[in-house]
Amino acid sequence: MAPPTRICPSCDTPLPAEAAFCLMCGTKIGTAVAAPPADPLRDVLEQAVGNQYEITRLLGRGGMGAVYLAKEPALDRLVAIKVLPPESGDADTRERFRREARTAAKLTHPHIVPLHTFGEADGTMYFVMGFVQGESLGDLMRRKGTIQADDARRILAEIADALDYAHRQGIVHRDVKPDNILIDDESGKALLTDFGIAKAAASGSTLTEAGSVVGTVHYMSPEQAAGEKHVDGRSDLYSLGVIGYAMLAGRLPFDGGSAQEILVQHLTKDPVPLQTLVSGAHNALATALDRCLMKQPNDRWPDARRLYEALREPMDQSEVLPEALEDVAGVGSSAAGFALAAFGVALVAFLAGETGRLATVPANLGALAVAVILGVAWVTHRRKFPWKRVFTVMFRQPRSWMFWWPRPLRWSGDVWDRLPTAIRRHRGGSVAYAAWAIAGFAGAIVFEARGIGGDVKWGFFGLFAAVLFTGPVFVARLQRWGRSVGFSRIDTVKLLTEATSDSKFWRRPEIAAILGPTGQPRADPQLPQPTTAQEYLRAIETTAKQLPEHVQDLGRQSVATARQLAGLAERAESETGKLARDADPSEMARLEEKLAILTEQQSVENEDDRQMRELVQHQLDLMRRLAGRLEAAQDRKTRMLDLLKTLWLQVADLRAQSAQEEFDSSEITDKISLLNEEIEIYVESAKETETILRSGEA
Ligand code: ADP
Ligand code: MG
Repeated sequence: MAPPTRICPSCDTPLPAEAAFCLMCGTKIGTAVAAPPADPLRDVLEQAVGNQYEITRLLGRGGMGAVYLAKEPALDRLVAIKVLPPESGDADTRERFRREARTAAKLTHPHIVPLHTFGEADGTMYFVMGFVQGESLGDLMRRKGTIQADDARRILAEIADALDYAHRQGIVHRDVKPDNILIDDESGKALLTDFGIAKAAASGSTLTEAGSVVGTVHYMSPEQAAGEKHVDGRSDLYSLGVIGYAMLAGRLPFDGGSAQEILVQHLTKDPVPLQTLVSGAHNALATALDRCLMKQPNDRWPDARRLYEALREPMDQSEVLPEALEDVAGVGSSAAGFALAAFGVALVAFLAGETGRLATVPANLGALAVAVILGVAWVTHRRKFPWKRVFTVMFRQPRSWMFWWPRPLRWSGDVWDRLPTAIRRHRGGSVAYAAWAIAGFAGAIVFEARGIGGDVKWGFFGLFAAVLFTGPVFVARLQRWGRSVGFSRIDTVKLLTEATSDSKFWRRPEIAAILGPTGQPRADPQLPQPTTAQEYLRAIETTAKQLPEHVQDLGRQSVATARQLAGLAERAESETGKLARDADPSEMARLEEKLAILTEQQSVENEDDRQMRELVQHQLDLMRRLAGRLEAAQDRKTRMLDLLKTLWLQVADLRAQSAQEEFDSSEITDKISLLNEEIEIYVESAKETETILRSGEA
């Protein structure tokens, strides 16, 4: 198709130069319609696609090439064609593009722009994809500044869903950014595009220099910034986190300065937490996004699925109450609590035979509290608030509440549902404990007053005492658990006592990590226990990395000793494997049996039998020696694993303790230093043993 020299101003149809009317819509074409500015890329594209596609107009230009709207007459559909400049890339790059296109074309998902075909002609590469009528998220953000929280949440959830799907096919996008998210005008749906294309380009230097990298540094994950070649799906989650951050806060987590400086910030600087930038109503969303922005992939959401689940449901936002309602918020809860306590006291006094002031005063106070509730509710209702709303506000969960509360009355961002089951059970258990203690105490009072005394009374006191005595055991067990998963003593206690609605504590990354996704409890146990030497080594490395500055040296030293020890343990492991094969117990039993038979036949001894017996005896001795060595090697292995475990627990302890402010590290650092020395000595002697054994073999 020859390049058109005119375009219909109302329907974009290309027209011959001499046309007076549009062939499609009949619009009069005045002489004022100027020839479109020369677009060599478009000419090239038209050459390349022939009459398979009719190029309509330019949709936009990006980091690499341009995107055109086109019609595919055969299927009567609109498509978007992305064309790369003819000079883009060498043979390698092209091959990479072909490969990536093949992978990307396999993706079929409601939130991924479909890639129809990939073609090349005369060195021009083009991608034919579904056309999305609408604007890119990038344009939307530039136009609006910030995006309303619930829209942002929905867009992020849709993209997380798309990423989850792609990641499960083993495809990492690597260029998740607002310009690669298109928002469909009609449905409002978000669609992710440029799968693979950007990835292929990023590894081809020519295109990189063309500016695609400069355009994307803002959304790059720390691992990409560090130049790691093989990043996994969690890198995309980071980029998505940056997008969410920018949508809500109206600014990027890292901005300003050169591309190089931004890369460095991704690697080293902590962003201003999103929670501090957005209104408290969007805590849950902000927390989810802050978790995407962790430097260590391990600290982020484990996969896109989890993020999607956290974002999927609209997050309830604490409403801004009208003043009249704000005044009565929570009044019902506190008054009801007071009434209950007062009635309880009155009841105990009554049961104890007290019908005078001791019983009537609290009973009246309780009744008064109930009257206050009803009165306040009535007055508020008279101000045109429906009953249901009045009671919902009045019986709102107290801010400092730490247990279950009816769901509609909870604060937004309440973490009760997301707590690990064990923690909820323990919290519930502590209420039961308290109730038990109170019941025991009250019972004892009642029986004492009634003069029933004796065993019954002491029985009730026993209930009370049981709480006092079993409490510490419970606390000790809890602390042991806390230490094993790296929490400080204070944090462990807070896990049980912190109000579920207060978010500061729950938002700390290491604490947030044990919470389940919104609306779901976190499965127990939280941390996989290492079992092999390599797993211990990895656990020690991770823990050591999280140590504060002033004890980093000790951490590094511990990692070094752990590495040596793990190396030895691995050798011991492979040795036990080998020995176990050689010193097979069943084989040994067989030999023993054979020897027994040979010995029995002693009477008819001849030279052959004797030789045979000696041979078997010799074999048996050899195997017994091997079995002895196997046992020794197994012992060594166990000992090494024990040492590794102790080292890990102590480093975890150090990490937990150093999180506390008034913490004196000398005791634990001494302990670790000693342990390190002990391990070094052990490693030395174990190496010697190895050498001796080996020379013995030779
Ligand atoms: P970028 O580097 O910004 O991602 P692209 O070359 O991928 O640049 O795209 C350029 C512009 O073309 C986008 O910003 C978008 O507005 C538009 N565009 C890209 N793909 C499509 C599509 N499938 N449907 C509609 N518009 C598209
Ligand atoms: Mg793009």
